[in-house]
Amino acid sequence: MAEDSASIHQQNESANQDETVRSSNFLRQIIERDLADKPTQGLVTRFPPEPNGYLHIGHAKSICVNFGLAADYQGHCHLRFDDTNPEKESQAFITAIADDIQWLGFDWHGDIRYASDYFDQLHDFAIYLIKQNLAYVCHLSPDQAREYRGTLTKPGVNSPHRDRSIEENLALFAQMTAGDFDDGACVLRAKIDMSAPNINLRDPIIYRIRKVTHHQTGDKWCVYPTYDFTHGQSDAIEGISHSICTLEFEDHKPLYNWFLAQLPVPCQPRQFEFSRLNLNYTVTSKRKLKQLVDDGVVSGWDDPRMPTISGMRRRGYSPVSIKNFCQATGVTRVNGVVDMAMLEFAVREYHNVHAPRAMVVINPLKLVISNYPVDQVEQLDAPNHPQDITMGSRKVPFTQTIYIDKADFRESANKKFKRLVTGKKVRLRNAYVIMAESVVKDDSGEVIEVHASYDPDTIGQDPVDGIKPKGVIQWVSVTEGKPITIREYDRLFSHESPEKASEDSGDSDFMSCINPDSYCEHTECFAEPSLLDASAEQVFQFEREGYFVADRHDFSRDQPVFNKTIGLRDSWPKQEQG
Ligand code: ATP
Ligand code: MG
Repeated sequence: MAEDSASIHQQNESANQDETVRSSNFLRQIIERDLADKPTQGLVTRFPPEPNGYLHIGHAKSICVNFGLAADYQGHCHLRFDDTNPEKESQAFITAIADDIQWLGFDWHGDIRYASDYFDQLHDFAIYLIKQNLAYVCHLSPDQAREYRGTLTKPGVNSPHRDRSIEENLALFAQMTAGDFDDGACVLRAKIDMSAPNINLRDPIIYRIRKVTHHQTGDKWCVYPTYDFTHGQSDAIEGISHSICTLEFEDHKPLYNWFLAQLPVPCQPRQFEFSRLNLNYTVTSKRKLKQLVDDGVVSGWDDPRMPTISGMRRRGYSPVSIKNFCQATGVTRVNGVVDMAMLEFAVREYHNVHAPRAMVVINPLKLVISNYPVDQVEQLDAPNHPQDITMGSRKVPFTQTIYIDKADFRESANKKFKRLVTGKKVRLRNAYVIMAESVVKDDSGEVIEVHASYDPDTIGQDPVDGIKPKGVIQWVSVTEGKPITIREYDRLFSHESPEKASEDSGDSDFMSCINPDSYCEHTECFAEPSLLDASAEQVFQFEREGYFVADRHDFSRDQPVFNKTIGLRDSWPKQEQG
């Protein structure tokens, strides 16, 4: 009860918070000003993932920002795959990314777009730059190029190939394109300024040779444009008005603008940056997530412990709670780390209102009600949600022998233990008040059975003797209940900042703070029979245990598997931090 009223309070709070967050999204002010200045030019944003892995919670934030702003200002948001590194990309990632976006509840404007749709145009742009004497073919090796580039404190040095004639460059680029050179033999570079303080402007590479098949364009090309040469021009081709990205692209903005200024592009998009979402106790880098998958630390990209959208989905997080969380983190230019507890709060907040209740016993202990008729099966009414009668009710079969949870019984206990104790009463959820009378033990002295009596006049009312039981526990009929498997998950990392841990001590080290106890399977659980009718991905509150989801892939009537989404309250010890 306390939990429910607390949550209503929290909902009010989060409604107020919504308003604050709306106004704290600095991009809104920019967009509102721009729309007021140029009312005929609508807002067009894009979400530009590289299809080299699954999307994670950080991408969810970017999706919410880009699709959310477009929706709020009657604009459009494109989905464009930034597919300029064919060797690391695949159609499987494209499909998974598109699925994730739709599952979150967003839809892109028009078809899925690909930067590779513009490879012809980008190639023409490259030739255009050569003809303007603004690009040249360079034969420096990668090591030499690094030498020539200079450092933050030292200007770069011009490449010996910088002054090739336009004709020679056109011929060499044509040869590159025709496949006359090996991978890495030469590159096409923009001719900007080797002494520019911003290293991105020191004659950046715009085309390189990669003799690999592309998932979209097949073997048409053996030269591919770089990300920097692709992104802004693709934005311009698509008529993107506000190109929103994360802060690490701030240093690339002068280059983004330089290309747009030099090339005959149809429009001039503008880039705006906000800070990345970082979460403690997890990593948000596709490369690191890929390592977890490749090394078999997790069962796949959608392992319920992964911070991927598909992992969170399989874990039972609702799209609404992920969106509420992203919204609550605000859009700023200040880098920070968000507490995982904030995401978990959003997950509980949603399920507390929407998840139907059910009874499951995870660590079963048999209890025999000696004064209950042996073969009787009584169908008791149980509301699906204690605060929401519109969610209806279901029948739960009650019988002489039931399971209760081992943790809910003690032979003797002090007053703080509000569950079943020998000689004391407890209420069985949605059923009778019982009193424990005796126990049966095995050879090692462990209690294997409890004998109790019930009070038949206690459905929906207190015992007539006026002695009100202190606690309520869940139960499942031994004969009518069904065995289920529960997969329980905990945080994947035991260190608050695994990425930092790795920076401190070599790159692969984030693997050293993997939580060894992040997964366990309970195969001897019992559930009320109605749970077999669940559909995959349906979330329940198993009373007093937490929220659980019918596994997306492994749930069936014959082998019901539920994943623990999250406990009823935050149980992660605070002192673990640091
Ligand atoms: P990763 O480092 O995980 O590979 P990325 O930035 O390289 O991420 P992209 O596929 O290029 O991945 O990202 C698509 C969009 O998502 C980009 O606009 C990027 O800025 C945004 N994005 C990626 N990570 C985050 C994050 N943690 N918070 C907010 N936005 C993010
Ligand atoms: Mg990227």
